[in-house]
Amino acid sequence: MTAAPDINVTRLQRSKLNEMSLENVPFGKYFSDHMLEADYENGEWKNVEIKPYQPLLFEPSLAAFHYGQAIFEGIKAYKNQEGEAFIFRPQDNFRRFNISAERMCMPTVPEEIFMEGMRKLVELDKNWIPGRKDHSLYIRPVMFSTDCILGVKPSDSYKFLIILSPTGPYYAEPMKIYVEEKYTRAAPGGVGFSKNAGNYGGSMIAAREARKLGYDQVLWTDAFEHKWLQEVGMMNVFFVINDIAITPSLDEGTILNGVTRDTAITLLLEMGLKVEERRISIDELISAYQKGELKEAFGSGTAATVAMIKELLYKDVLMHFDTSLFKVAGELKTRLNAIRYGLVPDTHHWMYKV
Ligand SMILES: *Cc1c(COP(=O)(O)O)cnc(C)c1O
Repeated sequence: MTAAPDINVTRLQRSKLNEMSLENVPFGKYFSDHMLEADYENGEWKNVEIKPYQPLLFEPSLAAFHYGQAIFEGIKAYKNQEGEAFIFRPQDNFRRFNISAERMCMPTVPEEIFMEGMRKLVELDKNWIPGRKDHSLYIRPVMFSTDCILGVKPSDSYKFLIILSPTGPYYAEPMKIYVEEKYTRAAPGGVGFSKNAGNYGGSMIAAREARKLGYDQVLWTDAFEHKWLQEVGMMNVFFVINDIAITPSLDEGTILNGVTRDTAITLLLEMGLKVEERRISIDELISAYQKGELKEAFGSGTAATVAMIKELLYKDVLMHFDTSLFKVAGELKTRLNAIRYGLVPDTHHWMYKV
């Protein structure tokens, strides 16, 4: 790490925690006392400061509103048994954030602003990390273009922010999933591997139509044949066929390289499963289901961690799973939580001390 930046800190006089409880808070609704803010202008990052969480003021011509140069990250902080604060694998999110930035023609954020800024902010708002099981402090870094001009080109100026939101369990219930054949989340050459705001905007209609049919989310298929499985909602997807865990490979750039995905691969191998990162089609899935070999299906992501799938609908084929029998997903979640809440040694050095 290079020299620590000058981060100016302005503290809130009286913590908002005096007026609220952190028990069972819904995802992303409440924000901590402070935020980090930095500006990119004339080729450099400046005005790095931590200050009370507050609204921002922009001109209607703000480039991000019109042309969508906007990226973000999702990270979680936990308290261990001694009450010490740790962030789960933030270096991986830092690297991914800059991969997203490059794809969107945005400047990269230096490590000393992203990592040290996040550490300082979480340290300051440490009391906002809930202590309860399945609760955590969600960390949301975001960057967007701030030129106030309607010409279409990469902006010259940007704002980088980090905000913090205490959160309870995200998808507590197993999910009913609709296999999507009409809409596409990502195509080769596109932006599927970057965590940019537009990917979310473009995917909402599929989730909305699935919900009308009684489903919680969609299982995305590839753009050309609507046959190769991609991701489930905004999570990576795993299928357990016999003793092999299969997840779509990252090769085509249509899949977000999830930190939870990578973590799951490591833990699944430790649990003695074989793991395959490769193309998997809906036909292979149905055939494995019909032979009784498809044991489990689940999504992985920071917000939800491991989200079990209890039903998959593809055309007129309904695949049903008894999630109470999901040994792999259950064990994976248990192992992941044990590491995050400091119940077992952190042999992979995933926990970054605040
Ligand atoms: C963020 C995200 C994921 C999950 O990534 P994690 O690093 O595990 O949180 C998966 N798919 C999409 C599309 C995402 O945006």
